[in-house]
Amino acid sequence: MKPLFDLHTHTVASGHAYSTMKENIEAARERGLEALGLSDHAPAMPGAPHSFYFGNFKVIREYILGVRIVQGIEANITSLSGAMDVDDALASRLDYVIASLHPPCVPSGTAEENTAAIAAAMRTPWVRIIGHPDDSRYPLDYEELVLAARQENVALELNNSSFSPSSGRVGARENVAKMLPLCAAYGVPIVMASDAHIYYDVGAMEECERIVKTLDFPRELVLNYRPDGLDLILSRRESPCFLR
Ligand SMILES: [Zn+2]
Ligand SMILES: [Zn+2]
Repeated sequence: MKPLFDLHTHTVASGHAYSTMKENIEAARERGLEALGLSDHAPAMPGAPHSFYFGNFKVIREYILGVRIVQGIEANITSLSGAMDVDDALASRLDYVIASLHPPCVPSGTAEENTAAIAAAMRTPWVRIIGHPDDSRYPLDYEELVLAARQENVALELNNSSFSPSSGRVGARENVAKMLPLCAAYGVPIVMASDAHIYYDVGAMEECERIVKTLDFPRELVLNYRPDGLDLILSRRESPCFLR
């Protein structure tokens, strides 16, 4: 099985990533991806672009170099109440939003508080994916997280870059070893993603694939493997049953 899409990638616009959109699209094509998601950091991240950057995505064609381009953003959860730095007006112009906790944008709370912050973000209709819920700097109650994802039809991310030895996110392997069995038990889908900050990482999900295999995680719950996976993510509010 081969991942069909990568929805978590960054370009130079993010301020701490190093490749252009075109370089990322070329890399996606070389990997044989059908679709590439643009998910530069939302404005609260230091160095991130102004909301106008995302507002002008209308100039971007739906297919470039044969790759379907999906327009997204990685929103920052900016408070433990679940507030984000993306508003309805901006989100309505985009195909999807990833919501993530990042140290420059929000201090960590207790596991209960962090989980509640993510659950509140999930209740926002345009949030489709929770980015890297694997970071011990933001401890989570994984059962509560998975139940909230189930309730709101939001996909949980399996983030390839979290497993890199150079990642700032610590404890990712241990945390996904808790999260994935719960996803399997409750039928909550995951989405694998590279979180590439340079072109050659676009579509790189080898570590995610290894973990999915090792844990014998149900392949039908890995949205990247499903021909209808992208549509399930993009239309989650219109398909209230998601996979159920
Ligand atoms: Zn980043
Ligand atoms: Zn992130």
